[in-house]
Amino acid sequence: MPATGERDTLQFQGTACDVCGEVRPRATIDTNHWCEDCRPRMLKRLRVWRHATALVVALPIAAWVFIHPTFGRQPLMLWSLFVIAAYYLGFRFGREVMKVYTRLRRGA
Ligand SMILES: [Zn+2]
Repeated sequence: MPATGERDTLQFQGTACDVCGEVRPRATIDTNHWCEDCRPRMLKRLRVWRHATALVVALPIAAWVFIHPTFGRQPLMLWSLFVIAAYYLGFRFGREVMKVYTRLRRGA
């Protein structure tokens, strides 16, 4: 059955890694589209990027909270939660930022 064989070939053709651009078997490419060779390097970079993005998001909010006229009148806990939430969102967002950046840089 040639049709089935063709489909199997397509299935095992592999996916290109988003970092190095090398085509690898699909099973060795993770959900981030990183191959096994790039993964440790990218995870390390991701840790840095996530905190960097989180800081970029949370710092202006923290500053705004600090100069806000109601600062001190509202419970500090509330403000802290607000800044922590911003940091957390930035942390989540940092992963996407880094993935897009990696893809764009490879394309350039
Ligand atoms: Zn790779």
